[in-house]
Amino acid sequence: MSETAARPGPERPSVAPDLSPTLHHISMARDWLAGNYSPLPVVIAHAEGAWVTDVEGRRYLDALAGYSALNFGHLHPTLIAAARAQLERLTLTSRAFHSDRLGPFSHELATLTGKDLVLPMNTGAEAVETAIKTARRWGYEVKGVPDGRARIIAMAGNFHGRTTTIISFSDDPLAREHYGPYTPGFDLVPFGDIAALEAAITDETVAVLLEPVQGEGGVIIPPEGWLRDVRELTRRRNVLMVADEIQSGLGRTGSTFACDLEGVVPDVYVLGKALGGGIVPLSAVVADRDVLGVFTPGSHGSTFGGNPLAAAVGQAVVELLATGEYQERARTLGAVLDSGLRELLGHGVDAVRCRGLWAGIDIDPRLMTGREASHRLLVEGVLVKDTHGSTVRLAPPLVVGEAEVQILLGALGKVLRR
Ligand SMILES: *Cc1c(COP(=O)(O)O)cnc(C)c1O
Repeated sequence: MSETAARPGPERPSVAPDLSPTLHHISMARDWLAGNYSPLPVVIAHAEGAWVTDVEGRRYLDALAGYSALNFGHLHPTLIAAARAQLERLTLTSRAFHSDRLGPFSHELATLTGKDLVLPMNTGAEAVETAIKTARRWGYEVKGVPDGRARIIAMAGNFHGRTTTIISFSDDPLAREHYGPYTPGFDLVPFGDIAALEAAITDETVAVLLEPVQGEGGVIIPPEGWLRDVRELTRRRNVLMVADEIQSGLGRTGSTFACDLEGVVPDVYVLGKALGGGIVPLSAVVADRDVLGVFTPGSHGSTFGGNPLAAAVGQAVVELLATGEYQERARTLGAVLDSGLRELLGHGVDAVRCRGLWAGIDIDPRLMTGREASHRLLVEGVLVKDTHGSTVRLAPPLVVGEAEVQILLGALGKVLRR
């Protein structure tokens, strides 16, 4: 007899009829969702610009902006118009055929970055994986590293995504534990330490992979001059400099790329998050032909990568960035945010690290955890996310005005000054 007869499902608690809409959705999530997240208790139903509205009609300032996937705010009219027009026309072709959207998008993104070629993917992790493949192929076919020997140097405290290969060079136990065996071929050096990096480079090193500012790490800013030193060192040692600008790029820090702040141009840009305008997943690896030219038909790909809908949104995103308006906003309002946060130093805040409209603040651990601070800010109508125990990350959309920055600062002051 077959044992495949329908098994009874697990006991599902029925929802009490008097549960508030918020509790109803939280209890559904607890019953049906895998437990790989622990969201704050707010259930968002609508959003526009920098503001979201929950299922009870309460409004919150979104000071996380989807980890910078929402740099242009929620429902940016230009991006929504581009997506809507494309939805009516063509959404997916696969790369087996051309679409009339991918060429224009690639042209504009290559122009924005000053590079020759674009390789579109979907999520950030896929773009990082693509950059790893790029560097390894470049190592074997251009640099002449013996096959199978290539090594990539990454930074302690990095975050580059969640695939098995990427977590193999994470040093965060939470991200790694019980996912082995791990992919070999990676070395870690301390972030911001040029001497350690130089010492770690061998003839088999093909790339240095870094975040110009470590976002998930808590908005960790390297010492002044380090990016320039990495650029000089990697050029001298014939190693690719790969900048993961998935979170730091596309306007967040007050320039198009965080590398721009030191006048550095890496060999490879890895882009994602805001590239999809908060509408679709869209990522890309962008580099010159002597690097990205290593790919041949069939050697890499993605069913959805560069699909017409994503390309239409991505092109609209690049056009918004080409105006320079959002970089300028991040610069001027970032200065307001920075000085406001500095006033909290010694009043519940131990450290402030700010680059454009992007800040990590370390809460005095005697006062409360970062999670607790995020909870209290939620009650004050401001959405943020904690990281690494004591740190709270602030990344409001670049469409905020000074009034919203003041609301954020006011809420922080209220929660921390006591
Ligand atoms: C978010 C992020 C990624 C991973 O992007 P996903 O779209 O979540 O796969 C990679 N690198 C950095 C720096 C990021 O912030």
